[in-house]
Amino acid sequence: MLAVKGPRTVENTLAPYDEAVRQNNSAGYFAGLMEQVHPDATFRDHATTMLTKASAAQTAIALNHDVYAALAAIDLSHADAATKYYVQRQLLEFRLSGVDKDDATRARLKKLNQQSTEEQSMFDRNISDGKKVIDADPSELDGLPKDYIERHKPGPDGKIKITTDYPDAFPIFTFAKSDALRRRLSLAFNTRAYPKNQEVLTSLLKTRYEIATLLGFSNWADYNAADKMMQKGHNIADFIQQVNDASLPLSKREFQMLLAEKKKTDPGATEIWDYERTYLSELVRRSQYDFDSQSVRPYFPFMEVKQGILDTAADLFHVSFQQEQNVPSWDPTVETWLVIDHGKPIGRFYLDMHPRPGKFSHAEMAPVLDGVRGKQLPEAILVCNFPAPTADDPGLMDYGDVQTFFHEFGHLMHHILGGQQQWAGISGISMESDFVEAPSQMLEEWIASPQVLAKFARNYKTGEPIPAELVARANRASAFGRGAWVARQNALSAISYDIYKTKPENVDLDKVTVDDNRNLTLFTPLPDTHMWASFGHLGGYSSAYYTYLWDKVIAEDFFLQFDHNNLLAGDAPMRYRRVVLEPGGSMSANDLVKNFLGRPQSMTALQHWMGEEFDSTSAPKAAGQ
Ligand SMILES: [Zn+2]
Repeated sequence: MLAVKGPRTVENTLAPYDEAVRQNNSAGYFAGLMEQVHPDATFRDHATTMLTKASAAQTAIALNHDVYAALAAIDLSHADAATKYYVQRQLLEFRLSGVDKDDATRARLKKLNQQSTEEQSMFDRNISDGKKVIDADPSELDGLPKDYIERHKPGPDGKIKITTDYPDAFPIFTFAKSDALRRRLSLAFNTRAYPKNQEVLTSLLKTRYEIATLLGFSNWADYNAADKMMQKGHNIADFIQQVNDASLPLSKREFQMLLAEKKKTDPGATEIWDYERTYLSELVRRSQYDFDSQSVRPYFPFMEVKQGILDTAADLFHVSFQQEQNVPSWDPTVETWLVIDHGKPIGRFYLDMHPRPGKFSHAEMAPVLDGVRGKQLPEAILVCNFPAPTADDPGLMDYGDVQTFFHEFGHLMHHILGGQQQWAGISGISMESDFVEAPSQMLEEWIASPQVLAKFARNYKTGEPIPAELVARANRASAFGRGAWVARQNALSAISYDIYKTKPENVDLDKVTVDDNRNLTLFTPLPDTHMWASFGHLGGYSSAYYTYLWDKVIAEDFFLQFDHNNLLAGDAPMRYRRVVLEPGGSMSANDLVKNFLGRPQSMTALQHWMGEEFDSTSAPKAAGQ
């Protein structure tokens, strides 16, 4: 590419550049995947080394001034809109890495970027090393599920050790009748990595502030928003305000229900501590909605759920799926599937769905190859940890597991259907990072549809389809607490924005955290906690934690365009595929949203979603009503 003589064209400059992107991405995707799934620890270590190599190669290109100058010199006068948009995005990314600055500035930026990477990994490491342990009396475990108590036997001193790890801590916050235990654990949980991370986070803020100002931005939040849908920092502040206005009536109504529940044991109560929210919500769900989350599991055996989700996606996106047999892979349970459109393969995906020692322990979709029209089919994988069916156990899934499966499948279809581009760099989910959770959160909503569930959710013993009445109760119970959930997410978004929007010297981490929680949620923060010290997303997402809520607003607006009496009816499914998913990263996501909705997203759909718990008619009638 750099050796080209004469005028720079799409063919002689963009084509080789994009080929480098394609190869680098493939190397990174594959190494990253093997690091997470390969059964052999040595192999995983090799993968980590290769991943570092691949990202070093990517960084080297991103900081190469000659590459930037070559791309900037391309004659785009006859190029199509997607190609123009691609080049414009790449040039923006180059400028955001400072490639057009003088040598001294670039040297300083390089140093600051290294520093920020180190500080961020120190911040993360302090959190993962920051596990705390508290002692509990056996009597304090009253209310916990039997299997939890089985796993937590008292030691020789008669005390039970409870750690701040999620599988240990969340059942306590949800079920423990002992207020004292929940309070003690919450104090431990919200002081993880404190005070260690105080200095680390403060220097990370300083480093990032200097990067932003060297590049001409007034703060890190503005800089970080520049290549996203949000574009400017102050738009984050506006969004937080709008979410607050939209959610406050609902969260107040929920708060009164929680307070009424609390008054049953504490008649004089006027406020609710942060740490009581989960426990009281569970009590309300049981007493007001008569729903026990165990009751739906017999209808969700893994194999039927998998087939049901494939069938649903096939109906929705007008494609079919065909399993490929005897494909070699890192584990015999991994399945390979082709996505067929009009008789032709348009992509391939892998399903690695069950836990294994040494495997990544959450759920995710990861790209495996970027689709390039006429050159390479898009490929993706779901890496999940759902219960595996065995000879005497059908692998019954929780409601939340099934929802997660839909969520990840939404990411997967986005990558495949959006992966039919001319260029690797705008293929699939290579786009503004604050849009990618919208298609996944949209598909999550499909689990609430009795029409969708009726197709596959049958009792594994009797074959009886899931009763519509049970679906309705499950939906209403899972809807309870959405107002408080939104408010909580909004407070976290505000913390993430507020600490990055000003000069680090003026940031008081404790004050920002307490103020945002007090202003945006109705719950009282526990004194002497420092949750920012273990809020890992302050490293990775930095000022962009708003992403999930932002995409939730978009996802709910998308979902309301479908006919809720028959999700597959009308032109919404095909229009959604064509207008939202197929463009991949070939245009701004703000335009994708406008093209589908006919306007920018609004808060109305989110308000409807939050209000479902109080809505006896459950779903709205049809699109736009
Ligand atoms: Zn996701």
